[in-house]
Amino acid sequence: MALKLPVYMDHAATTPCDPRVVESMLPYFTERFGNSGSRNHKFGWEAEEGVDWAREQAAKLIGASEKEVIFTSGSTESNNLAIKGAAYMYEKAPAGSKSRGHIITCIIEHKAVLDPCKRLQKEGFDVTFLEPPVDGVITAEMVKAAMRPDTILVTLMWANNEIGTINEIRQIGALCKERGVLLHTDATQWVGKMPTNVDADNIDLMSWSGHKIYGPKGVGALYVRRHRPRVRLQSLQDGGGQERGFRSGTLNVAGIVGFGMACEVAMAEMEQDAARLGKLRKRLEDALVSRIDSSAINGHREKRLPHITNISFGFVEGEGLMMAVKNIACSSGSACTSASLEPSYVLKGLGVGDELAHSSLRLSLGKWTTEEQIDYAIEEIVKAVSKLRMMSPLYDMHKEGIDLSKVEWAHH
Ligand SMILES: *Cc1c(COP(=O)(O)O)cnc(C)c1O
Repeated sequence: MALKLPVYMDHAATTPCDPRVVESMLPYFTERFGNSGSRNHKFGWEAEEGVDWAREQAAKLIGASEKEVIFTSGSTESNNLAIKGAAYMYEKAPAGSKSRGHIITCIIEHKAVLDPCKRLQKEGFDVTFLEPPVDGVITAEMVKAAMRPDTILVTLMWANNEIGTINEIRQIGALCKERGVLLHTDATQWVGKMPTNVDADNIDLMSWSGHKIYGPKGVGALYVRRHRPRVRLQSLQDGGGQERGFRSGTLNVAGIVGFGMACEVAMAEMEQDAARLGKLRKRLEDALVSRIDSSAINGHREKRLPHITNISFGFVEGEGLMMAVKNIACSSGSACTSASLEPSYVLKGLGVGDELAHSSLRLSLGKWTTEEQIDYAIEEIVKAVSKLRMMSPLYDMHKEGIDLSKVEWAHH
């Protein structure tokens, strides 16, 4: 069977909707179109039943109770609500203290965590942006060293979306618990792929999103702990008081039902998916790294998700590389900003140089990735890199054994 091109290897950006998810949603656009807030008739009750069922699936997936799940529009909103909502609720009384409270995060977090933290910084909170070691993993020790008496919140992702590395969330949670500090985790890349239990993992607040787990876009959830401690948040959106006042607005019933189905399917299939994808990723990495010299996998080699890899290829130019692998839909180590192509701040945060960051590829696999697709990607990337290197005088010099770091370049 001919391979359909381009091959999709960007599941960390978004996943296709599972057909079972689509099926579950359809009735909620038509027969069961009611407003889940309508208390007086069957239309409302049916919609509410759908939402209740979805909440049960979401709660089960993470070992929480239904009342602890707040539906949102996705992880960006969940992160904003958790971080700003907690900061405003738990800020230290201004009397006597210069800062409104201290927050700990990390420079390689998603923008949906970094930007709320930067806003809070402008508003008078103190924020520590931890710098990860070269393997990208934040440990409890690092968090402990940054803790202060006025620390109110730690917000760290469970797994990184660009390099797939896994932070020591359970241990960090234990530390936070001991110090009476709240822990929020952006678990968008983790939940639904890896087993999660908010009690065993010591989590107070947790964000995840439908479209990263084969559900619909524009729907997600925030876990908010209700016991030991009962976490309070200042809501960011005022209105009808839905979702226990945390998040006003008529519920996206069809989207929420789809999200629930995505959670149910994830619970049943994550283990087998992870095992299969781990093998495929190994096949991909082993082939690329053994066949392409001067290539390197970014981030910790073991502490990472089974389906994401990020590889830098020396002596190729980043834009050329993306053009040459256009039959593989993946992400590069470059981020388009309005004016220019910037090297990924995540790779830079690990200490990867600008050139090497630009010539990196993030390949992320999913439920329907096949071995045939992996083998195709291997051949395409090997071909692309060797073609680009044929045009690289630097690569020639490197092959001749010249240490490029010691070359004195002519300046004009
Ligand atoms: C995709 C992603 C987000 C944003 O999620 P949305 O639901 O698209 O808002 C936040 N954090 C991480 C780690 C992600 O991978």
